[in-house]
Amino acid sequence: MSEKDLTLVLIKPDGLTHSLTGDILTQLSAPSMEIAGAKVVSVDRDLAEAHYWEHKEKPYFETTIRYLLGEYHSNHRVMALAYYGEDAIATIRKKMGPTNPLVAKHDPAALTSIRAKYGSIEPVKNDDGSDMIINGSTVFLFFNLVHGSDGPQTAEYEVKLWFQPEDIAEAKRVQVAKPGSRFETVERIVREFDQAGNQLGEKTVLAWKKPAEQVREEMKNKG
Ligand code: ADP
Ligand code: MG
Repeated sequence: MSEKDLTLVLIKPDGLTHSLTGDILTQLSAPSMEIAGAKVVSVDRDLAEAHYWEHKEKPYFETTIRYLLGEYHSNHRVMALAYYGEDAIATIRKKMGPTNPLVAKHDPAALTSIRAKYGSIEPVKNDDGSDMIINGSTVFLFFNLVHGSDGPQTAEYEVKLWFQPEDIAEAKRVQVAKPGSRFETVERIVREFDQAGNQLGEKTVLAWKKPAEQVREEMKNKG
């Protein structure tokens, strides 16, 4: 039997602006999963950048951050959910559909996915109104409405980034704090932030708000 996952879902600002939260929650529901945490969050840049830290060097990074910040929808709120259940990570990803909504709309296996139904894409514009082209490719903004963690390590990091322990139903909290997994993601991220000389680590790399200093101490003690 596969293990139960705790995974992060975000309904991005356009989902709230267009009043799609009900439809999206209906579409995400499955008998194998339950909601272990849910809240509406006012997103600031630190949180958005910490969430998409792995994409920092990508040409679409800045517009993707602005999208999560709600700058295209005059709404700085995101709905964050933690889903718990067998294969929850994969189940959610399938219900969301491919990253690019245009691909989702043309993929026969994804036609009923959230991104196929409600997503759209737009070319990113330069200040003079022309299309932004980087390395010969037009940069697009994917209005894809939802985020879902892509693996157990990312899920752990992301649940901890968006939720406090007390936000998560008690029985499921154990899942994220289980021995052996607890600091793995955090250590990697502290290291990568440090190597990049990036101050974001101080604010975000907190295994449930543990100060980065303390995490470093623990890493040293572990040898
Ligand atoms: P997913 O959200 O499906 O996990 P990724 O983790 O690859 O996808 O990317 C994170 C987010 O960055 C996407 O949801 C999307 O908003 C944006 N993004 C990813 N790839 C591209 C791309 N090639 N062009 C524009 N935006 C992208
Ligand atoms: Mg992803």
